[in-house]
Amino acid sequence: MASEQQVRQYLAYWFQLGKGVVIRGDREVLLPRSVIQGNRYSPEFEACWQRITANNAGDCYLDGTQQTITELLSPFWEINPCARCSMPVPFRSPGLPSEPECPCADVPDWPNSEMPQPRSPVDTQNQLSLIRDRLRKSSSVEQ
Ligand SMILES: [Zn+2]
Repeated sequence: MASEQQVRQYLAYWFQLGKGVVIRGDREVLLPRSVIQGNRYSPEFEACWQRITANNAGDCYLDGTQQTITELLSPFWEINPCARCSMPVPFRSPGLPSEPECPCADVPDWPNSEMPQPRSPVDTQNQLSLIRDRLRKSSSVEQ
C-alpha cells in the first residue's frame, strides 16, 4: 500500500515533468506551476492536494495513468521506481498480477540526464551542513 507521503511525492515528481492530475468530474487538469518551495511543498501544491483528496473530488488520476489517487492509497497498489526512468510509478502490490504503467512513455526526450531531475523538498539546513563538512574535509587535505 502506498503511503500518503509516497502518493504526494509521486504527484510532485510528475508535476515537475508537466503531467497534471485529471479531476474526472470537473474535466479539469490540475498542474501547479510551482511544486517545491524551499524545503517543503509549495502552497500551490498543497492546494492541489487538498482538492484531490477532498471528499467531493470524485476520481482523480495522473494524466496518462489508469489508477485513481484513491486506488493508490488502497492496499492493492504500491509506488516504486520505473525500470526505465526511475520515476515513481504505481505497481500492483506483491501477489497481485502486475502491470507497470509508467506515463514516461509519452514524455518526449525522457529519461534525460541533462535536464534538472524532479526532486523532493530539500532540507536546506541539512544540505548546508553536508556542504560545510565537505569543505572542511577538502581544506584539511590541503594543509
Ligand atoms: Zn518511466
